[in-house]
Amino acid sequence: MASGDGLRVIIVGAGIGGLSCAIACRQANPPLHVTVLERAPDILTIGAGIHIPPNACRILTNLGLLDKLSAAGGYEIEDFTLRRYEDGKVLAEKPLKGRMEKEYHAKWISIHRGDYQNVLLDAAVDAGADVITNAEVTGVVESTEGPQTAILKDGRRFEADVVIGADGLWSHMRETILQRPFSPKETGDLAYRGTFTREQLLALNNERINKLVDQTNVQVWMGPNRHAVFYPLRNHTEYNLVLIVADDLPEGVRTSPGTVEELAANFVGWDPMLSDIITCLKTSLKWKLLHFESLDQWTRGTMALLGDASHPTLPYQGQGAAMAVEDGAILGALFSKWQALPTTPSLTRSDKNKQLASLLTFYQELRQQRTKTNVAGAVGTRHYYHLVDGPEQEERDRFLAALMKTDWQGPCPFNWADAEYQRSLLGFDVCDDAEARFKVWAATI
Ligand SMILES: Cc1cc2nc3c(=O)[nH]c(=O)nc-3n(C[C@H](O)[C@H](O)[C@H](O)COP(=O)(O)OP(=O)(O)OC[C@H]3O[C@@H](n4cnc5c(N)ncnc54)[C@H](O)[C@@H]3O)c2cc1C
Repeated sequence: MASGDGLRVIIVGAGIGGLSCAIACRQANPPLHVTVLERAPDILTIGAGIHIPPNACRILTNLGLLDKLSAAGGYEIEDFTLRRYEDGKVLAEKPLKGRMEKEYHAKWISIHRGDYQNVLLDAAVDAGADVITNAEVTGVVESTEGPQTAILKDGRRFEADVVIGADGLWSHMRETILQRPFSPKETGDLAYRGTFTREQLLALNNERINKLVDQTNVQVWMGPNRHAVFYPLRNHTEYNLVLIVADDLPEGVRTSPGTVEELAANFVGWDPMLSDIITCLKTSLKWKLLHFESLDQWTRGTMALLGDASHPTLPYQGQGAAMAVEDGAILGALFSKWQALPTTPSLTRSDKNKQLASLLTFYQELRQQRTKTNVAGAVGTRHYYHLVDGPEQEERDRFLAALMKTDWQGPCPFNWADAEYQRSLLGFDVCDDAEARFKVWAATI
């Protein structure tokens, strides 16, 4: 890095985490030189719906993306509704619209995942990131004295000061950093996900569904060992359905085609409205849900991990991508502040590498406990979503009813309803915290 130039960073993977990191790095002053290397021939904007909870929405707003997300069909969720599985009775309705901004200074948005990724991709490219597809990274040649070199499967080589592994659940960069194999663990759950149109739902001629299609709520049916999530997308022209059931795939099988009949059989005896909605699903691919409780090492020299590469989680708090956005934004902010230190321009190459390695270890310290709490929180949410009928389920439902009357201000063993837990997850400003703690780190170098 020549004196006065922006730092050069390679980001491996153009998922939600990698692209958020690219945007944050380009918004640094001076902007970093950002190269995103993506294995896929095209950026995969596939998928169904995804939540952008306030902790991620706050960051995306600060990155100037809120209007673009809204223009791409991102909308504010009205209420989060929990229902009893067998009859759809509403057990709890937690207002999100307005309340999220009042309490946590950011909205709770839902959006089609493909539309979200497109907004991030356009923003990264517009900001000057070089996004290269057909670029599978197979290794990194490390150096303490010079730049790091990412090696591609086709033999191309790219140099940078820092390499960030944002390559998802099956991260190759994770194994490069750990120097050993490390696979995510099976959780015992699998998901079926799909979207369908308003016309499909209206064609069911179900009065309850006709009312549901105009609601702007997240609907969750909670039942023994499974749950269902339903919400609108793209201005109520499409709808997202996720069904979570016990994993019946053989160990090691990640996805497998299922049949709609098999899927529907999992929900026999559930709310007839849900059973009707399920009939709209035309595809029924099973996705095994994986995670790991924690990873001790996220960095090696001037390489680091972010997102699912370092903390994949069950999706039950809608936080996997949100945590990846937090990681990416913090990295951008830390690099920006490091560049602005008065001592940085005069450092030797090897001293720069040492400081960057220390900065990345500091990044890991900032992120590790929060992401570990999130992974454990999603496991806790599964416990309470999936309770079988009995005393614990009755207690959960009593807690929900009582907390609804307090406007969700109070303690609850079920973290979905616990005010303190929600505040720390959704309201905590990780970027402010990182900036404040950066000063402490900078004083140690
Ligand atoms: C059913 C379900 C529902 C979910 N709902 C939500 C939700 O509502 N809210 C939320 O916040 N999260 C949700 N998540 C989680 C979320 O999808 C993930 O946590 C998030 O997408 C992780 O982003 P990432 O950028 O870390 O990884 P990914 O999105 O997996 O991106 C990794 C990228 O790296 C590329 N890549 C891989 N290997 C290489 C290589 N060697 N070289 C170059 N490129 C490579 C891949 O092609 C990919 O583009 C959900 C997950 C599931 C399964």
